Amino acid sequence: MTKIVEHKEDEVFDIELEESILKKNEDFAKKNSELFKTHNIKTIDIMGSIGSGKTSLIEAMVKRLKEKYQIAVLNGDLTTTIDSDRVAKHGVDVIQINTGKECHLDANLISKALEDMELDQLDLIIIENVGNLICPGEFRLGAEQRLVVISVTEGPYMVLKHPFIFMEANVVVINKLDLAEAMNVEFEKLKADVMRINPKAEVIGTSCRNDKGIIYVIGALNLS
Ligand code: MG
Ligand code: ZN
Repeated sequence: MTKIVEHKEDEVFDIELEESILKKNEDFAKKNSELFKTHNIKTIDIMGSIGSGKTSLIEAMVKRLKEKYQIAVLNGDLTTTIDSDRVAKHGVDVIQINTGKECHLDANLISKALEDMELDQLDLIIIENVGNLICPGEFRLGAEQRLVVISVTEGPYMVLKHPFIFMEANVVVINKLDLAEAMNVEFEKLKADVMRINPKAEVIGTSCRNDKGIIYVIGALNLS
């Protein structure tokens, strides 16, 4: 009996701790959002699993948009600069945010990165979140738009198993369509799963490797 009560107390403590962290995060997210509005900067938070194609999508977008917008990319990664280096090759500013052990970016980390940036010179900030489909959804960064990338190589249940993050997204990209047949995964089924969870989301199919579908993603984000 006593043991059960102790266990419950622990659970309550954990929930309270998490709520206070999320509340603090929301405060920072609001400040970031106001800062972006003040400087008239469009912002996109790109979320998705490791290997889904977040960096490839960002590269493809940057190639098409760098003449029209002054772009900075914020790149969240535990320790490496592999993705930052790939994006920097396209001649845009890249700011690496190493999260150490953290499995998501939070609004406080973004706020710190913004302190060192020349916001007046920017039109568009693209944020690559840390690769995972769970907690990045809960931690809003203050970005105007949120995009989730999944790939057909992750199998047919990615949407159903991670409903929360899809509720948060206004654009969902289903990538690696060139491999859909080999994986026996159907775009239309994944799209229907997204629409059931979030009927307002725009769902776009891409093959970033072959540079296909990118213009539709740019259109869905109102950047064209
Ligand atoms: Mg990446
Ligand atoms: Zn996390």
